[in-house]
Amino acid sequence: MNKTGQALAGRAANAEFAVCHGLRDRGDPIASLWRGRDSLPYGRSLALFFVPLFFVTAPDMPHNGKLYIETVGCQMNVLDSELVVAALRQQGYALTEEMKEADTVLFNTCSVREHAEQKIYSQLGRLKFSKRARPDQVIAVIGCMAQKDQERIFERAPHVDLIVGTGQLAEIPRLVDEARRDRKPAIAVSLDRKEGTRLDVAQSFESYDPLRDPEMRPSPWQAYVRIMFGCDKFCTYCVVPMTRGPEQSRAPSEIVREVRALAEQGVKEVTLLGQTVNSYKFEENGRRYRMSDLLAAIHDTPGIQRIKFVTNFPKDMTDDLLVAIRDLPKVSRYLHVPLQSGCDEMLKRMKRGYTVADYRDMMQRIRAILPNAAVSSDFIVGFCGETEESFQRSMETVREFRFKNSFIFKYSARPGTKANELWADDITEEVKRRRNNEMLILQNQISEEDNAEFIGRSVEVLVEGPSKRSTKAQGTTTGQTADDANLAYPMPGVVETAVLAAGGRDHDHDHDHDSCDTGCGGNSVVQLDLGAGSARKPDAPRGQEPVQLVGRTPCDRIVVFDGNPRLAGSLAEIAIHDCTQTTLLGSIVTRQIQHGSETLLPILA
Ligand code: SF4
Repeated sequence: MNKTGQALAGRAANAEFAVCHGLRDRGDPIASLWRGRDSLPYGRSLALFFVPLFFVTAPDMPHNGKLYIETVGCQMNVLDSELVVAALRQQGYALTEEMKEADTVLFNTCSVREHAEQKIYSQLGRLKFSKRARPDQVIAVIGCMAQKDQERIFERAPHVDLIVGTGQLAEIPRLVDEARRDRKPAIAVSLDRKEGTRLDVAQSFESYDPLRDPEMRPSPWQAYVRIMFGCDKFCTYCVVPMTRGPEQSRAPSEIVREVRALAEQGVKEVTLLGQTVNSYKFEENGRRYRMSDLLAAIHDTPGIQRIKFVTNFPKDMTDDLLVAIRDLPKVSRYLHVPLQSGCDEMLKRMKRGYTVADYRDMMQRIRAILPNAAVSSDFIVGFCGETEESFQRSMETVREFRFKNSFIFKYSARPGTKANELWADDITEEVKRRRNNEMLILQNQISEEDNAEFIGRSVEVLVEGPSKRSTKAQGTTTGQTADDANLAYPMPGVVETAVLAAGGRDHDHDHDHDSCDTGCGGNSVVQLDLGAGSARKPDAPRGQEPVQLVGRTPCDRIVVFDGNPRLAGSLAEIAIHDCTQTTLLGSIVTRQIQHGSETLLPILA
């Protein structure tokens, strides 16, 4: 038995419920192990046995086929939910929006802040007695919290049936069947970072990205494509290296195939996802691919009009990548590059691996190669030991770099991180809140000034669809709006909350630190409280009235304007006539059709 096998067997001997580790090392007889017991979590005997996963098939068990899934977290989680739902729909499941209707309830979780975890526990609490009424119900906690807390979730919520980590999501259809059939709780997680070699741990996180389901996407013409898993940066405040495992890039040929398939399904904009997406590297057929090569490889995919990527790590923002963005017109001129602090001492404590001077050098290179690019950032305020002077240095960097927007978070200690182990969370809540708001006010002012420079200019937008406000105004409660699509972007735990693009997350501008670069994404939920330009034309025939639409510029600025909803998914030229801190307000550039028609058509690319 190799070291990985020993580690797994050691854990198996000490555990009280079924656990499987989905290792991909097919040469090792213990590579996939299943540890089961013949009972619900508490007070029964432990049965330990090993069965290769590929020998297990579950028979169909009676259930109503309704699936409810709740997702908190970043774009990665949104994509994971799409893939999980796609797999379950292939088994005949149908989605429902009502948790109480579903015999299968999944919570796709986030661990980067305590608030997101509490939200899941409170949802689980609502289901405490539901299984008495419906014995065939399966309740699963999946994703980051499942990988981080593992059996501790059973302790707090013994009615949970399944705990499935981020690296085992491909197993969910089988695990759900088995949980229903065997009435046994089970855990399927990847190895912890210290439980094996880097390769062993990496292999215990499985990939299943090619399975796509258009109906689960935020919008039919926008899709996420994961190009990397995990993270090896180990910033001291962050749980992601534990919950998502070692950094692994996907093969470019696989990504190219996936983008092509998405384009054939009607997708026009792909957002490439990675915890540190610009660290991408892969060797295939004797050639080394970096992010710049990957962008070039997918750029000419027929049907794809925009390519975005989030989130970037400052040290990996190389010149070849900036040049590729410059030379590839479909690549968005928008870079989300979290700085996190403007104080070198704090950056060192955070183990970010760069100084403010390094970041400044990166910004100078960006400005030189991509003069029109928009750059956004994340900041953590109130990190352990952050003095007033340290905070003021961060404020100075906001002034100096004039980010398009910044996502500002109050630090919150996370168990399992180095920062939590090494330093006291010594900044009071009141001080964190005050710093958060001070920075937010400054960033908002800068964002509004920068947006004002667009007034009088025309911009190209990819139209996302009707804004939520216009949909509500028409009394429509079903269907997806562009704002709903935007809900995919924000940081963990805030998907239901309106967010200011210029840095706010919550209505009161008071939010905890989300410790991961990834979720920031540089995109944001917007409260489209715009008033201007959203009124329906009184004399337009019913069904053809222009509504308030929302779109984004190549540098990711949000634009609202009136137009026909059929423009969704197309490029349009918008003349900007006003702005807010978060949004450009405009109208479609029109031309008169020949032959004297008075009908105005938008100029589309
Ligand atoms: S903050 Fe980002 S770069 Fe740092 S460990 Fe977390 S995911 Fe990795």
